[in-house]
Amino acid sequence: MTTTLTMTIPAKLLHHPMHPDEWQARVQLAACYRIFAMLGWTEMIYNHITLRLPDSVTSGEKQFLINPFGLHYSEVTASNLLKIDLQGNKLDQLSLDNPWHVNPAGFTVHAAIHAHNPEAHCVMHTHTTNGVAVACTQGGLAQNNFYSAQLHGMVAYHAFEGITVHAEETPRLLANLGTKPLLILRNHGLLACGPTLR
Ligand SMILES: [Zn+2]
Repeated sequence: MTTTLTMTIPAKLLHHPMHPDEWQARVQLAACYRIFAMLGWTEMIYNHITLRLPDSVTSGEKQFLINPFGLHYSEVTASNLLKIDLQGNKLDQLSLDNPWHVNPAGFTVHAAIHAHNPEAHCVMHTHTTNGVAVACTQGGLAQNNFYSAQLHGMVAYHAFEGITVHAEETPRLLANLGTKPLLILRNHGLLACGPTLR
């Protein structure tokens, strides 16, 4: 089956005024969720990929798109992504009309990085079996092969402090991440952040 990305705002959303750049971000992020699903980088309905909307949409305010909590990544679409602030509040009527909500516990680590790292417009977090296995080893990612060696100097580590990242843990997490784009959350999973979705 061939899937075509709709780069123009569909007619069904015409009663929800939307900047074209927001629609572009929605399409690209939804496509990213589908790619993660295709690759098997999913854990049922859990985990998130968050994307900050560009300033052309928000006039500089920090606003984000996130998957609705309760849907599998394969069910995420450009129009059912939720538009939220750093506290996880829904920001527009399209999101308020959406019966699905934000997973506040899951968004905490994303919000911490989005709030304090101006370069981190996109944050991806996974619990893949392979990723968790590496996160559970004392030595972390062994850079003894062609693939992992390409990540030399790019990987940070954060010790496990509990199932979810709490507010008081945030400064330690940010200090451990520093300016690196990749973070291994020990005994937990993997995280990547960067200035764009790509
Ligand atoms: Zn996690």
